[in-house]
Amino acid sequence: MPGLAIVGAQWGDEGKGKVTDLLAERADAIVRFQGGNNAGHTIVRDGEEFKFHLIPSGILYPDKACVIGNGVVLDPRILLGEIDGLRRRGVDVGNLKISANAHLIMPYHVLLDTAGEIKLGKLSIGTTRRGIGPCYADKALRLGIRVQDLLDEKILRTKIRAALEPKQQALRELSVQRRKLRKEAGEGEREGAEEAYEAAPDPRLDLHAMTEEHVNYGHRLEPHIADTARLCWEKLDAGRTVIFEGAQATLLDLDHGTYPFVTSSNPIAGAATVGAGIAPSDIEEVWGVAKAYATRVGAGPFPTELEGEAGRHMVEKGHEFGTTTGRERRCGWMDLVALRYAVRINGMTSLAITKLDVLSGLDPLRVAVRYRSREGAQLDRFPYHQSILHSATPEYEELPGFDADISECRSEADLPRQARDYLDFVADFVGVPIELVGVGPGREQVVWRD
Ligand code: GDP
Repeated sequence: MPGLAIVGAQWGDEGKGKVTDLLAERADAIVRFQGGNNAGHTIVRDGEEFKFHLIPSGILYPDKACVIGNGVVLDPRILLGEIDGLRRRGVDVGNLKISANAHLIMPYHVLLDTAGEIKLGKLSIGTTRRGIGPCYADKALRLGIRVQDLLDEKILRTKIRAALEPKQQALRELSVQRRKLRKEAGEGEREGAEEAYEAAPDPRLDLHAMTEEHVNYGHRLEPHIADTARLCWEKLDAGRTVIFEGAQATLLDLDHGTYPFVTSSNPIAGAATVGAGIAPSDIEEVWGVAKAYATRVGAGPFPTELEGEAGRHMVEKGHEFGTTTGRERRCGWMDLVALRYAVRINGMTSLAITKLDVLSGLDPLRVAVRYRSREGAQLDRFPYHQSILHSATPEYEELPGFDADISECRSEADLPRQARDYLDFVADFVGVPIELVGVGPGREQVVWRD
């Protein structure tokens, strides 16, 4: 299995970290190809929890190359914090390789992200406000700062100056907004006031201070900077397995997700070619990771969303709170219309279903098998038109639930019949085998299917 992509099949937080961690055992390198520190992977090893925002999940294996590809946008301060945190816990990070072509999230990107969201008010996208969107925007505008720029102070200063120039107006507005809000805060808190304080221009925006700070980051990151595309080719050409680990998920894809409520990069499998510098033919397997139900963070359409008791059950039993933001996730039944779309667009060859244990205690179980439009039309396919999706209502197949605690199950035969039937229904409906089933957060809490 030389090139293997692992992608989120829903709206993110499916448990890709754990699946990557498990499949990484058979790989030589693990590569992240898009996104920034808006992703949050959680891995539980021997009862110890590790949370990663930027570093690929494979870092816990000392013998594997762990790559941040050119398609990632990285905040050097956050990355260095993660590196220090891992070192403190005795994890060797010598095998971390960073593409010289990856773009940097600069302090002004973070400020502009927050300011943009506040300005949108009710229409806000619900970004994690980490500066990721503005960083990708600068990349497209050819105003980005890349990792390699950290190694040359003169070039770095020139590029920061050029990037800051067109943002002066927006940054000035931000400082006016800050003063206004400070006044208002004296008369009582207003929604967004706190965030606006955080968004206020600070001394870090000074060109010279920013340059100096980033030159220092460059010194620290230099041993990790590498030609990461070549590193992948060498492994693939030698027949070694390389995993391309997606962050976020298919329905949050900038082009193919529920735009504009999406992330600012492409998390689908095809994007691994661009974000890591490999050929489409290098990818032989695509694993999609889906929860046994569905969740979504932030705004945007979510046809199977639940507000009642079953939804509460999922939030509480599934601990559905974001790794990066701590926000409670919206929960709902598994959406097979959306999943079938994700299967096709990624060319999935296998599915991993996580958190099946969370469904125990719910009876009956429901899965959406089609939508109904506002006008009453039956929709078997995921609608490409935003207005149709927004108003679509799901129609469900009801399946019998199970009560047993399945967290100790390790083989398919251990699972209750209803759980096996549920998995079979999903696999048959979307036409892809379910090879791995998660029955708890621990690394060992999995059932491998034939
Ligand atoms: P990712 O970004 O897709 O890797 O997902 P997150 O790490 O944000 O969310 C997955 C969460 O679910 C983590 O807290 C995992 O420890 C946990 N998890 C993963 N698989 C399972 C599972 O099969 N059952 C349960 N109960 N929790 C799981």
